[in-house]
Amino acid sequence: MTNEDKKMEQFRQKIAEIDDLHATISVMNWDMQTQMPKGGAEARGDQMSTLRRIAHEKLVDPEIGSLLSDLEAREQALPYEHDDASMIRVIRRLYDRATRMSGDLVFRMSQAAGRANTAWLEAREAQDFALFAPRLEDLVDLRREQAAELGHADDPMNAFIAMKESDITVDALEEMFADLRAVLPGLAAKVADADDPDRRASLLQGDFDPDKQLDLGMAAARAIGFDLDHRGRYALSVHPFSITFSPDDVRITTRIHRDYLGSCLFACIHEAGHGLYMQGVPSDLRQTLLDSSTSRPELGRPVSFGVHESQSRLWENTVGRSLEFWQFFLPIARAFFPAQFAGVTPEDVYRAANVARPSLIRVEADELTYNLHVMIRFELEKEVLEGGLQVRDLAEAWNEKMQEYLGITPPHDTVGVLQDMHWTRDFGGGFQGYTLGDVFSASLVARATEENPGLRDGWKDGDFSVLRNWMQRNIYDHGSKFEPLELMHRATGSGIDTGPYLRYLEDKFTRLYDLS
Ligand code: ZN
Repeated sequence: MTNEDKKMEQFRQKIAEIDDLHATISVMNWDMQTQMPKGGAEARGDQMSTLRRIAHEKLVDPEIGSLLSDLEAREQALPYEHDDASMIRVIRRLYDRATRMSGDLVFRMSQAAGRANTAWLEAREAQDFALFAPRLEDLVDLRREQAAELGHADDPMNAFIAMKESDITVDALEEMFADLRAVLPGLAAKVADADDPDRRASLLQGDFDPDKQLDLGMAAARAIGFDLDHRGRYALSVHPFSITFSPDDVRITTRIHRDYLGSCLFACIHEAGHGLYMQGVPSDLRQTLLDSSTSRPELGRPVSFGVHESQSRLWENTVGRSLEFWQFFLPIARAFFPAQFAGVTPEDVYRAANVARPSLIRVEADELTYNLHVMIRFELEKEVLEGGLQVRDLAEAWNEKMQEYLGITPPHDTVGVLQDMHWTRDFGGGFQGYTLGDVFSASLVARATEENPGLRDGWKDGDFSVLRNWMQRNIYDHGSKFEPLELMHRATGSGIDTGPYLRYLEDKFTRLYDLS
């Protein structure tokens, strides 16, 4: 064994310990959100923050710094995509960021977040943003301090985007949203005028037995290829999520609304989409921090929030809301709910699953209008962090943008500027990943279809293997080795390209709503 091999071995061992700690935090998090009695909250909070602190100390250990410099020659000598070279490169990025952040600021931020959360709940109760504004101002000040620590005093938004999407800049996102702004508000308005959406939607509304909903949702998760037998589990939680402890142990959750089938079913497909990605990462990448993790935000998401959302939204929207999917899945749904689906055609469900209409709440928004909600948040975060907008004026600015892009004005702040919990923790860079996910997803499907022109044909028979195998080769196999634009270039030949996404939406909704 050469001296360099020994160093690499030491490095791997140290990183494996950090990865194990993060996986342990994830197990605690899973338990907290699916099993834990309310009374356990305080102790669990302490336990998790202790483990987080130990994991952080292990990452910023100067020993890691010197191993990183000792291994520089090895990194240079190996091919870029080699496991070792990738591991050294990615961990150097995480190490550099972690060592810049002072423990004192992290502590003050978590204190301020606690106070902000309390104020946010009170403000929601009172339907009055003014009660939340002072606490949010504190948080925004701390975020500016954090951006300065990370070397982005002049452009804080870029610091926070980089934490989620390492090689993507605010300018690139502005361009992306400009493309969407030119098309989506107009298309959404045309669709809203075209038909009576209530009639279409009613098919998925009614009385749906919760146990059967859960079984149906898991039948869909299995159908697209999520392994629930040997390497996966599911549970219920307030907000659906997915989490990985290793590629061989991936968990997903859903929620159930008795009066609306779509909530559980599409959440199952969405989370199983994340799950396929996490189960698809090669086991060799276990304990390297390069497995595609959604669950280790402490590390600033080694790969990319946007790339992860590209996988979940692909299965939820492009597949799960397609006519072909319902040609296959309707008989299964009918077996669970014979009365509700009697005399219904795949075309009927396809229409019901694609009702589009401007609405107030982002998490309930349809595929067509969803990204207008994201755009509003991105623009406001940017204006506030760049100093062009005061926090106290956020509610008014919010309502103006809702009117401009969606043509509706919230009746009060609880269903407006106070609707997301995100701003009680992080302000800036928290939302754009959903839109990137949609844009990436459309580019990936377009590329996969070029290579396999009959891609969608199998869906009618419940065969999704062509699409899944393409994602395996082009996305899952790489874990978190590449930055989002790097990965997209390798898979599709371009970075952020809104063309396929806008064409997909225009096509789908023009046909569905007989627009001309
Ligand atoms: Zn997701």
